[in-house]
Amino acid sequence: MSKPDRIYPKWRKSIPVRVELDILRRAEQQIESCEHCTPDEAEIPFDYVLDTLTGCDPETTDYVLPKSGFCPRCREPLRTGFWRWYDSEDDGRKLFLLPGTLVTLKK
Ligand SMILES: [Zn+2]
Repeated sequence: MSKPDRIYPKWRKSIPVRVELDILRRAEQQIESCEHCTPDEAEIPFDYVLDTLTGCDPETTDYVLPKSGFCPRCREPLRTGFWRWYDSEDDGRKLFLLPGTLVTLKK
């Protein structure tokens, strides 16, 4: 059985950053479409758009949104990425990764 301190070990380095609503709105304004409505074209993670607006380090930042962002074309929710290192007794150190929604940007 895993204990919580093994799922979220102390050496985890990601920093939760709260995104203000106006930053979220500016991010949405830069987006043309997302992986749901243009799956062959969307290849930029939504987190990258937030990185450019906030100046945060993508390696260590977990974004916390004040509310869901939405794709301006299809209104699907935009998800931010999430990653955690964890220690598995059987397999050693592993990375759990949930990538953010992929988007295309306005030209
Ligand atoms: Zn979309």
